[in-house]
Amino acid sequence: MTARPRPWSEFRAALEAAGVRPSRRLGQNFLVDANLAEAIARDADPQPGETVLEVGPGGGFLTQHLLLAGARVVAVEIDARLAAVTRDLAPEPERLEVLNVDVLAGKHALAPEVLARLPVDEPWQLAANLPYSVASPLLVLLARLPNPPRAMTALVQAEVADRILAPPGGRDRGPLGLRLAVTHAGRRLRTVAPRLFWPPPKVESAVIRLELRADRPPPAELAAFDAVVEVLFRHRRQTLERRLREAWGDATLARRRIAELGLDPRGRPEGLALEDLLALARGPGPSGPRPDPAPDAGGSRATESGA
Ligand code: SAM
Repeated sequence: MTARPRPWSEFRAALEAAGVRPSRRLGQNFLVDANLAEAIARDADPQPGETVLEVGPGGGFLTQHLLLAGARVVAVEIDARLAAVTRDLAPEPERLEVLNVDVLAGKHALAPEVLARLPVDEPWQLAANLPYSVASPLLVLLARLPNPPRAMTALVQAEVADRILAPPGGRDRGPLGLRLAVTHAGRRLRTVAPRLFWPPPKVESAVIRLELRADRPPPAELAAFDAVVEVLFRHRRQTLERRLREAWGDATLARRRIAELGLDPRGRPEGLALEDLLALARGPGPSGPRPDPAPDAGGSRATESGA
């Protein structure tokens, strides 16, 4: 007989018995709504035995739904008391591994213990109610892995979801959304009210889903894309022409590239489409022409409309 999910009251009792008082610094806002936890596991829709990385399982309330959906869960929890509760209450412990570590090793790297657990040649995914402080760097680091997640289903602050899914032209458009959009097509699945958490956060949250694009650029092109995004958004109030001129130290090259691509020299970086940024990354830059993408690299024509 399939195990039934435990109610939130059991998790709350176990957390209190373990002496847990939710920490703001660690973004400990626990999901209390069984329908939402079940819906997130359904959104993730893991294949039987598929590896699902869950960052910040808390006491394991969402974890149990991922396990009951058939996933093999690697849960990474920084708080030892919570890691222990997650292990104790798991319905299918043989498919669960809990790592009691910080998921990030500094700002720019994943913890080696986590990297060692991620499949290198099989599809896998992320499903998590993410702590605010790590959500943005974590999603980008995962998207840049040699075997990136086929999907990322994440509960994040609504303001972070807005930045990740921002279309061209607005204030929210920036490096975070672009670095994710180039590899994963994103959409918002649901808005989540503060009352569905313990304790309730001050702001709304949202569940987003990012799906790996078959037409994502090959790694060398991605590195050039990230560099172009970094340069353009370093001074986002500057016009495109001024920004490229200053960054490249070559006014002729900047004007030529802008004209070749039919861009507005007086436009701002947030107005550029993903295709424009990819075209800038593919062409000659300040250090001369870049090598052609590898012939087997696929179409590498990621477009804004995505999946
Ligand atoms: N998944 C649980 C739920 O939905 O109820 C808890 C989610 S809570 C928003 C975020 C969790 O991430 C907390 O359990 C917190 O201890 C953990 N956490 C915070 N920073 C972390 C980090 N750097 N690495 C791993 N876990 C972290």
